[in-house]
Amino acid sequence: MTLDRDSQRLDELIAFEQDRFVDRMGRSAELARAAHRSLAGGATSSWQLTDPHPIWIDHGKGSRLFDVDGHELVDLHGGYGVMLAGHAHPAIAEAVRGQIAHGSHFAQPVEEAVVVADHLRADYRQPLWRFGNSGTESTMDAVHLMRAATGRDLVIKFEGAYHGHHDMLQVSTWLTDTAVLGAPDRPRSVVASPGIPDAVASLTLVAPFNDLDAVEALLVAHAGKVAGVITEPVLMNCGVVPPEPGFLEGLRRLTNEHGVLLTFDEVKTGLTAGRGGCTARYGVTPDLVCLAKSLGGGLPISAIGGSEDVMSLIVNGAYEQVGTFNGNPLSIAAARAMLEEVMTDEAYRHLGDMQMAMAEGAQAIIHEYALPAYVADVGAKGSITYRESPVRNYRDFLAVDGRWAYAAWLTQINRGVLLPPWGKGEQWLLSVQHTAEDVDLYLETLAVFALAVRG
Ligand code: PLP
Repeated sequence: MTLDRDSQRLDELIAFEQDRFVDRMGRSAELARAAHRSLAGGATSSWQLTDPHPIWIDHGKGSRLFDVDGHELVDLHGGYGVMLAGHAHPAIAEAVRGQIAHGSHFAQPVEEAVVVADHLRADYRQPLWRFGNSGTESTMDAVHLMRAATGRDLVIKFEGAYHGHHDMLQVSTWLTDTAVLGAPDRPRSVVASPGIPDAVASLTLVAPFNDLDAVEALLVAHAGKVAGVITEPVLMNCGVVPPEPGFLEGLRRLTNEHGVLLTFDEVKTGLTAGRGGCTARYGVTPDLVCLAKSLGGGLPISAIGGSEDVMSLIVNGAYEQVGTFNGNPLSIAAARAMLEEVMTDEAYRHLGDMQMAMAEGAQAIIHEYALPAYVADVGAKGSITYRESPVRNYRDFLAVDGRWAYAAWLTQINRGVLLPPWGKGEQWLLSVQHTAEDVDLYLETLAVFALAVRG
């Protein structure tokens, strides 16, 4: 009965809020229409496409975005988890201004790259580093390095985990057809995008997250053929799914026992989960760590750090980790400012206080309105997942009804709060420039949503 009522209310709310969205976003709609003339699909990335249409941005300042229709929005989207510094942070602006006046690109190393690598070395407990430009590049290099170091071809990833859009890891990600995905405890490797050959997917083995037995079974079944395991320490892109106690330690033990390498993809959790990301938070040290997103304070940069053993392949020239823009001086200057001036101890304390207020406030609203939902968070990132019991892997997440998150997203954007516009509940990101007022606005708009569904 409640389910039917929820279902009907959600459909009505979505229809109502979509109309309201369209009424308020006239200029965005115009730009979206015009964009089709020369931008394929009408946006610069397929994940900028949202229903009813993308929100076109004029500028950002502090914790706020200003759209082309003149709305001021509390930005919890954070450019898909990048803007930990907030918008136009004075230290980032100054670093980029200072560098650009001295040249923006040389494809020769600059001294500041060593300073940034030294910080990462200390924070993530990996001795040697290289830079790139995107999370995709860093996880691609990680797979290459794991294969080159072991002389083996197979890698293990977790079902539903997204690690970027290169062939090797675009496997069993976002897919929804359980008939194709196979048995939940023994998922199949399925290409996640046209253009990726099945032959490539056959080199990527898939296990359910939080399932050490499944990982061990793959390691045994493919003994001597697996190069490594790649995982986010906290599974993102399925809400926020923490590792169960002992899971990361177990992965480290199993990979050591089987002579297999372990990569942590900290593209989302690096910096945002705390200084040293989840590597420091959970105290488990992998062989390779991938960073990107928030490291550059809004400029494109990625980094890959690794053990002496693995990185010796780069040192001795066997593996050429390359890229025209690697170590670009503007990105490096911004990363240095990010690590030294923006992410201070005080900034992390401030983020911790606000995150507590967000998570506790949201959980209180969920409780008050008896929403079938819960809050999960790590560091500056958190999300509401609309499911009674916590998600522990991708199959749990598949069962979530995406209308809840979409109806909440529409209700909140129409009242001045921008959450990530994708999926069944992407994570919010707080920045160092967010304030208690931003948190209050988030909670007020969440309560409006809860009342609309349950009132
Ligand atoms: N790894 C994770 C965990 C991600 O969430 C993403 C992007 O969302 C990537 C890698 C790829 O990063 P990029 O989009 O910078 O290529």
